[in-house]
Amino acid sequence: MIRVTAVQPESIAEELGLEVGTELLSVNGRELEDFLDWEFLTADEAFLLHVRQPGGDEIEFDIERPLGEPMGVSLEPARIRRCANRCDFCFVDGLPNGLRDVLYIRDDDYRLSFRYGNFATLTNLKPKDVQRIIENRLSPLYVSVHATDPTIRRYLLRNPTAPAILPQLRRFAEHGIRFHTQVVMSPGVNDGPVLEQTLGELYHFGPAVLGCSVVPVGLTEYSKHHLVREPTAEECRGAVRLVEARAETAIRERGVHWAFGADELYLRAGIELPPADIYDGFDQVENGVGSVRWLQRQIEHGAGALPGWAGRRIGVVTGTAMGQLMPMVLEPLGRATGASFELLPLVNTLFGASVTTAGLLPGRDLQAALAGRRDLDLALLPGEAVNDDGLFMDGMRVDLLAASVPMELRLSKDFIDALHQPVAA
Ligand code: SF4
Repeated sequence: MIRVTAVQPESIAEELGLEVGTELLSVNGRELEDFLDWEFLTADEAFLLHVRQPGGDEIEFDIERPLGEPMGVSLEPARIRRCANRCDFCFVDGLPNGLRDVLYIRDDDYRLSFRYGNFATLTNLKPKDVQRIIENRLSPLYVSVHATDPTIRRYLLRNPTAPAILPQLRRFAEHGIRFHTQVVMSPGVNDGPVLEQTLGELYHFGPAVLGCSVVPVGLTEYSKHHLVREPTAEECRGAVRLVEARAETAIRERGVHWAFGADELYLRAGIELPPADIYDGFDQVENGVGSVRWLQRQIEHGAGALPGWAGRRIGVVTGTAMGQLMPMVLEPLGRATGASFELLPLVNTLFGASVTTAGLLPGRDLQAALAGRRDLDLALLPGEAVNDDGLFMDGMRVDLLAASVPMELRLSKDFIDALHQPVAA
């Protein structure tokens, strides 16, 4: 059963009389467990929908609709699949006390991997999950491999019962499932020869593995520093060399780059970012792989159609990592719009200075940086720093932040998305 949380006006759902609180029980006699069931079972033009209305009445609807027309309901979030691992570098262990309860849940969910590209380790799959992935062709999946050597992988995951990843992937691949993979590089454990082996085995696995990214492990002030450490510049350079060697082979043999280093890996290595065309389809851009080149490309394509900004002053809030790379993104944006962009790279006071990503900035840091800035017409905030409920990591609401600073605020993913309408004069 899945509960309806919103009904879009003038939708099929509204016409049927579905309302907030309606329970969606089954489609064509198959019980509904979560959003994936809903999406798969209602994909046809015609189906039987069995619901229970908030008052307790059960109704069956015989639905026929034009293919592709959405039903128009929002569903309650799926119950999160808990993680079976205890990685030393787990972000949850790196959280300070006192944040929202939901942030302390370790999730590892193949459904979110399929739907949103979240990385999953596949170590908590039950037989019925395996069957569902195969039956519903949940592909591609985003998989945290870390190491193909089972012993090293179990060590990294702190999970002695984690199944060997290659046979697990093989079983899915035989049914047409494909994978984007990642290695979170923990120095002294899965870098060097272990990384070389992992990249080699995933590459030779065959075309079901679409690519592999290498991301340096990221720790906060609260992480278990006695068990894990961040890589040095030389260790990152070593990883870049392995990635680029593998990509060179892949481009020669398969015509794709296949192996990618995260922007952060290049940054820490002190090596210039590679050009945009090495990222194939930017499949792992949400994982920080090719983000800067992707932004530049978005701006190149979209900045010509942004009139009305000449002479405006725009603050761009980001973390300290992107602070080093952002000038090369903002310079062409300034030229195209005539606005003057000021970069505001903020040190994260919630997690500590070592956490440099914009998505983890707390609202209080933005407030402190923007409160006295009457000279700015607009501030662009990293869209990924705010969740669907409009909350920053520290629980501050974005609307309350907006009420406490003197300029207009806009959340943005690629700048272009927030600049279609100029700010009021
Ligand atoms: S897989 Fe590891 S890093 Fe991810 S949630 Fe589980 S323990 Fe944390």
